Amino acid sequence: MTRNHKPKLAVWKFASCDGCQLSLLDCEDELLEISAEVEIANFAEASRAVVNGPYDLSLVEGSITTPHDEQRIHKIRRWSKFLVPIGACATAGGIQALRNFADVQKFVSVVYAQPQYIATLNKSTPISDHVFVDFELQGCPINKLQLVELLSAFLAGRKPNVPRHSVCVECKTKGNVCVMVAGGEMCLGPVTHAGCGAICPSYNRGCYSCFGPQESPNTSSLSHWLGEHGREKRELVRAFREFNGWAEAFRRESESHEK
Ligand code: SF4
Ligand code: SF4
Repeated sequence: MTRNHKPKLAVWKFASCDGCQLSLLDCEDELLEISAEVEIANFAEASRAVVNGPYDLSLVEGSITTPHDEQRIHKIRRWSKFLVPIGACATAGGIQALRNFADVQKFVSVVYAQPQYIATLNKSTPISDHVFVDFELQGCPINKLQLVELLSAFLAGRKPNVPRHSVCVECKTKGNVCVMVAGGEMCLGPVTHAGCGAICPSYNRGCYSCFGPQESPNTSSLSHWLGEHGREKRELVRAFREFNGWAEAFRRESESHEK
């Protein structure tokens, strides 16, 4: 592919653990080819060098949790031609969004000796709550092959081909015996976005949905089945309230079992 200039790639961090950025570094073999095709203009995990914007593609890790974050994401959006949140924090608020179901000021007063110095928002929210996003890559952390596909699609000027089906499809493709139907385990595979290759059921345990909701998840049907098989409401609340608990479909489902 001939270009007059290499597209500029920037990677940004908000409230997160850096795991999704590490997925990019973990690409190893592919990273050399990627770095030949793009100019890595801002990626603190890989280099101290910072090239000023505008940027052709911004990958954003982390959720918005402070007033400063709220301002910074708007600047990044203005600097970026394409902007893609990566990971559960950036696409759903992350595990830190568990505070959204409680009073954050109570946590601040208990955890910090000098709470008056803490500037925090009441909620941890995904990037799409603040700015327009061009695509989202789910997962905690993201799958590196899906990331490579995203970058390849960007370079080729096409839509990324990331499957939208559930973990159950991956699980059946591997020939696993269903841990939920056959073993009675709680498993969120039927409503979870594919990408991990059904790791947990392959090791005989249920999926806790670190990849978040699949497209159009039928959460109420899964809850109904689980309820009929002895699961209590408080178990359903906890199941839907993990790394992606603030994703709309999971939030609505968990709240429906609190009533
Ligand atoms: S074990 Fe879980 S992911 Fe696998 S088929 Fe059963 S419900 Fe689906
Ligand atoms: S929790 Fe679910 S989505 Fe996450 S690795 Fe396990 S099976 Fe995959």
